[in-house]
Amino acid sequence: MNFYQMGLDTIAQHFKTDIQNGLSSEDARQRLDVFGYNEIPHKQPISVWIIILNQFLNPLMAILILAMIASLLLSSLKDFVVILIAALANVVVGFVQEYKAERAVFTLKAYETQFCNVRRDGKIFTINSKILVPGDVILLSAGDKVPADIRITKAIDLKFDESILTGESKSIEKNVDLIEETKIIAEQKNMALAGTFVVSGKAEGIVVATAIHSYLGQIAGLVWQTEESSTPLQEQILQLSWLLSVLMISISTLVLAVGFLRGIELNKIISIAIALAVASVPEGLVVTVTAILAVGMQRMLKRKALVRHLVAAETLGSVSVICTDKTGTLTLNQMNVGTLTEGKMLVSDAVTGNGEIFVIDYSNKIESDELKKLITLAVLNNDAHLQDDVLFKGNQTDIAILDLARYIDINVHDIRKKNKRLAEVPFSSDLKYMVTLNKYDGLNKLIVKGSQEKIFEFCKQDNELIKFKAIAEFMVSQGLRVIAVAAKNVETSIIQEPLVEFEFCGLLGIKDPLRPHAKQTVKELLGAGIKLVVVTGDHKDTAMRVASEAGLPASEQNVITGIQLDKMSDVELQQRIENLTIFARVEPKHKIRIVNAFKNVGRAVAMIGDGVNDAPALKAADIGVALGSGSDVAHEIADMVLLDNNLSSIDAAVREGRTIFNNIRKIIVFLLAHSFSEIVMISGAILCGFPLPLFATQIFWINMIGHGFMHLALIKEPEDQDIMRQAPRSKYEPILNYDMKFMIFLIGFVTDLGLFAMYVILLKINMPIDHIRTIIFTALACDALFFVFAVKNFKKSIFKIDLFNNMWLIWAVVAGFVLQLCALYVPFLKDLFQATDLSLAEWGIILGLSLIKIIGIELAKDWLRRKN
Ligand code: ADP
Ligand code: MG
Repeated sequence: MNFYQMGLDTIAQHFKTDIQNGLSSEDARQRLDVFGYNEIPHKQPISVWIIILNQFLNPLMAILILAMIASLLLSSLKDFVVILIAALANVVVGFVQEYKAERAVFTLKAYETQFCNVRRDGKIFTINSKILVPGDVILLSAGDKVPADIRITKAIDLKFDESILTGESKSIEKNVDLIEETKIIAEQKNMALAGTFVVSGKAEGIVVATAIHSYLGQIAGLVWQTEESSTPLQEQILQLSWLLSVLMISISTLVLAVGFLRGIELNKIISIAIALAVASVPEGLVVTVTAILAVGMQRMLKRKALVRHLVAAETLGSVSVICTDKTGTLTLNQMNVGTLTEGKMLVSDAVTGNGEIFVIDYSNKIESDELKKLITLAVLNNDAHLQDDVLFKGNQTDIAILDLARYIDINVHDIRKKNKRLAEVPFSSDLKYMVTLNKYDGLNKLIVKGSQEKIFEFCKQDNELIKFKAIAEFMVSQGLRVIAVAAKNVETSIIQEPLVEFEFCGLLGIKDPLRPHAKQTVKELLGAGIKLVVVTGDHKDTAMRVASEAGLPASEQNVITGIQLDKMSDVELQQRIENLTIFARVEPKHKIRIVNAFKNVGRAVAMIGDGVNDAPALKAADIGVALGSGSDVAHEIADMVLLDNNLSSIDAAVREGRTIFNNIRKIIVFLLAHSFSEIVMISGAILCGFPLPLFATQIFWINMIGHGFMHLALIKEPEDQDIMRQAPRSKYEPILNYDMKFMIFLIGFVTDLGLFAMYVILLKINMPIDHIRTIIFTALACDALFFVFAVKNFKKSIFKIDLFNNMWLIWAVVAGFVLQLCALYVPFLKDLFQATDLSLAEWGIILGLSLIKIIGIELAKDWLRRKN
């Protein structure tokens, strides 16, 4: 018999479990030994060997290997050795980058832990979903990802999103009803399957299959195979490197043809052409970009921003508006797994139904039957759970209330046991209230708890109520989140609409203080040209108060409420959007309109969300950001997760995003500008009919010095000091914009012409050709070691930046120098490169030539600064 065909008792017996109390912890532990962790084996990281092998499987390697064979056959063993060294350098650089990228992405995946609520020993625990075992009784609510296959035992308005398994995007209703006949997976309405999401409602169920035994586990091979598609930046770079490759190979071919016609020895001209192609084809760019993105993601993780998609790492740098929640990101509302940390929401004022006002400071005990009555109702109409005196997963507002209950000596467990819940409408951000029907003093009591507007609406409208409304108004203006409670006795044991004629029971003012660094973060973001808007379900006045405390503009014309939004067309919203900083009393459906309005005025939007209904807005935003404490759905959809819920983590991520983009630019400008050098020299000489200014081996050597270590070192470039004082770049700006192209052209071509001119002059004064080659060889090798410092910052002059902030680069430059000195002075190498001894004056000229390039770049930077 299948699980969906078993009655509840049968299934409980089958799994030797208890629907009310769950397994005993001891039993669960033993089962874990038997069944193992509830994990579906992830894709293994690519093995080191495969990554190494990958380095040999590219066209460039093919050319190099051909060149090695050619040099063995045609010329000398020495050439062979140099090309071999160059090839190995290529392999090492490629390997290091790819390995870094691969590991970074893999470790990030490991951060995505999932938790769930289970009944064990008759209590409710939040556990890591890994240790879930068959027979566990699990509780699910809206936004949860189902961690295992489950036979549903309790269902309230239950709907699932099963698109991951079935592709069906409509949500599916589920219930506990027994199914007699045989059904296909999609029609087993009393089963919840691992990997699907609870869209709305609540459920309980018995775990019937975990890990690879679940349906998802069995088809996992299919699901995980979706590869991450390449990011726009990677695409751009790929195109660019194709374009350049074609160009460079054409030039090399031209050199080959002209050289051949001019009667240069065939083996020489072939190896020159190959060396040129190898030196100038930017084959490593794509891998480099990936490595930079991956390294950036790791840096973001250190600041508690978990980036889930590579594309987010690059988009972050262009973010120009951040739509943030108020609760948690700006304010403290934070709990780490296992412990209550720095801060939390606290009930700081309570107003009971008879008009008594209590200021609650948690230091001296309050004795009041009225207050006890109010809190008792709020505890019954409440979905948070106490767990060993430590609270975590659950609605923060509800947790704050439980905290107060504990403080005034209400035994949450007993009260809930005594006054059983008969029916409920769970809280949602759309409704902004929740309803429960409880047994209470032998009667059926309908309790509502929620935003003051809603609850006041449900109450008997009398003079008393007007008084309470005024008090509530005052409370929100103080920045408190106000929760109102009302109740009435009913005859029925189901919840019947309409909700009217309630007895008003009291108000709770919940205090959620600003995070300690909120003000500073807000200031930094504003300074970085990023617009920060608060999108909250809270009352307008609460939001305004908190926003202004955080340093955001919060006057009447900056605020808009959900109700006003409903009356506005998208066009009107778009016209006003730049002036708005607070969206209060919004529902999740408004968030997507806000995102689109900002996108339509050309901004790159980061939207923070946590609930199940935020998913569409998170998807629509350029960067969807989920709170660490948010629902599983939000996590799954988001591009980034703020592990500590903190706004400052997004600030750090933007910082990194900007740095990533800058570093990619630095590398591109550096590599391309450098590639031009040899091209200009060689093709210039060939076309003008001069002798070859360099040997193939020399080109390989220069290339190794310039590209190898420098390349790796540039990945490590730290952020510019004033990175957060610049305006965000436009999200439409290509990586190679006009300025970049100008710079590359200028550095590459124009300054290399200077070097070429010197070559011509040296020829004219009849300097021996071997000596000239030594000079050109050294000049080209050294030049990259110098001008790299000028590309460290495209905006600031080389004199105004910290040249030593990247020690990797310093070491790469030193290593480059030492290598070049070896080439000139170590006998074997000296012989190989046919190097001659350089005089001090000649060294002077060589270093002077390197300066030309730096001066060129600095002039270009200066001109661009002025132009912009
Ligand atoms: P946000 O996500 O912006 O903090 P929420 O959707 O969580 O907003 O809350 C919106 C409003 O719903 C709150 O201002 C409060 O009045 C009400 N509310 C929040 N949590 C609860 C709860 N657990 N029970 C009843 N009402 C709540
Ligand atoms: Mg919320």
